[in-house]
Amino acid sequence: MNYYSTQITNLIDELLRLPGIGSKSAQRLAFHIINMPEEHVEHLAETLVNARKKIRYCSICCTLTDTDVCPICSSIKRDHSTIMVVEHTKDLAAYEKTGQYSGVYHVLQGTLVPSLGKGPDEIRFKELMDRLTGDDPKIKELILATNSSLDGEATAMYITKKVKPLGIKITRIASGVPIGGELEYIDEVTLSRALDRRIEL
Ligand code: ZN
Repeated sequence: MNYYSTQITNLIDELLRLPGIGSKSAQRLAFHIINMPEEHVEHLAETLVNARKKIRYCSICCTLTDTDVCPICSSIKRDHSTIMVVEHTKDLAAYEKTGQYSGVYHVLQGTLVPSLGKGPDEIRFKELMDRLTGDDPKIKELILATNSSLDGEATAMYITKKVKPLGIKITRIASGVPIGGELEYIDEVTLSRALDRRIEL
């Protein structure tokens, strides 16, 4: 039975497609939007469309950005000889919040998922290898900061196996990041400590 008009139902249905939004949240958001001043709604809609249109992957580190090369990759203040490998842009953001890391990143945009047969071609692994085998600038250290989940560990192991022959120092962030822990939920102190105590592989 349809309690609402078609427009309201459509809005609720669209909101329901977003991750983490259940039917109660979708209804609450829908009614909030309907009660917002029209110009605010227009601004929100425009922001969504622009974000989707303009955001792309950095041509160097593969993070989400709105320029060809992201601000971190184009900064001369960063140490371009140290690359931290993370799963997603939100993990990069978590490390940036600590303010303790001055190197650059590589964002895989996912992990290997051996149980589902998801392999290296489905993440930004080739782009990482291209960076490591190019010689400008020479990479001195690769810090593996994938999550400590099964898939995160499998990804770290795979990268280690492929990169080790290149003679680049490889380190893994230390424990302190709980097993199965998602980087984005871990506090900044713990993240900094995990980075400080990284171990060489
Ligand atoms: Zn970048």
